[in-house]
Amino acid sequence: RREMAKSKFEYVREYEVQDTCLHNCWVVVRVDGRNFHRFSDQHNFTKPNDPRALLLMNHCAKNVMDDIKDICLAYGQSDEYSFVFHKKSNWYKRRASKFMTHVVSQFASSYVFYWKEFFPDQPILYPPGFDGRVVLYPSIQNLKDYLSWRQADCHINNLYNTVFWALVQKGGLTPAQAQERLKGTLSGDKNEILYSEFDINYNNESVMYRKGSIVIWSKVNEISNKMIKLPHEAEEKEVEVCRVRNKPIVLHCDVIGDTFWEEHPEVLS
Ligand code: ATP
Ligand code: ATP
Ligand code: MG
Ligand code: MG
Ligand code: MG
Ligand code: MG
Ligand code: MG
Repeated sequence: RREMAKSKFEYVREYEVQDTCLHNCWVVVRVDGRNFHRFSDQHNFTKPNDPRALLLMNHCAKNVMDDIKDICLAYGQSDEYSFVFHKKSNWYKRRASKFMTHVVSQFASSYVFYWKEFFPDQPILYPPGFDGRVVLYPSIQNLKDYLSWRQADCHINNLYNTVFWALVQKGGLTPAQAQERLKGTLSGDKNEILYSEFDINYNNESVMYRKGSIVIWSKVNEISNKMIKLPHEAEEKEVEVCRVRNKPIVLHCDVIGDTFWEEHPEVLS
């Protein structure tokens, strides 16, 4: 075993700063793809929404949660994902750098590792990066407002992008013309353009695009086959066993408002 005696160099450890997240606060780690404007272009993402990319993001988020059980909820849209650590978590003594770096590195390595399952026909051309940040929310209301803010952002961007790409792909406008056309329009105007010019009812667009993705823990029945040796029998026998497991599941619903929180009171308990 390694000696515990201190070397004369040991003092440099004192230069490390303490970064404990304040106790009793909800800790949010948000990761965001670095320069995904370019990454999505180079990897031929369909515009405005590439479902393969969104499903890959969701898969990575589930992988992060499987890895870090103290995360009680995650919310994702576009190239970003927010992970909420329970306020009672004492993982790595609540060190912010541990929370942030473990989430972002696990997410980024998952993104590359699972890429080919979601993009079988599109090779990954260079290693993508993600940034990360930590924000503390002292009340449940602050946390709910944070998630509502991200979902409102998803809605505003997605409505804009849906009209923008309809104007370009179906309306024959150049990106500059489409941008000019949308300058100063309100959400009602955008809905109207979609409906009257392209016969698109925005509310019928995919709910994953409109609402983003929420990941929570859920009890799931898992059936597997096991070889079991029964008493009074010589040979092992294969039997079906059902186990209840806690697994991350993905939802696409409103987090704005009370319904989600009333239907899932266990998430923040
Ligand atoms: P930064 O490094 O500052 O985050 P960025 O280019 O990643 O720069 P964002 O504001 O994060 O800028 O925007 C991400 C961009 O990635 C979107 O504007 C969009 O062009 C693209 N993108 C992300 N996810 C998808 C997707 N599922 N389908 C199509 N495009 C996507
Ligand atoms: P933590 O998550 O706390 O960092 P850890 O298991 O990674 O836990 P470390 O103190 O970082 O613990 O030690 C890394 C361990 O990984 C080493 O003790 C060694 O067993 C193994 N390891 C790392 N690099 C090599 C290598 N090149 N060859 C063999 N073993 C290695
Ligand atoms: Mg950004
Ligand atoms: Mg980005
Ligand atoms: Mg982004
Ligand atoms: Mg080490
Ligand atoms: Mg290590």
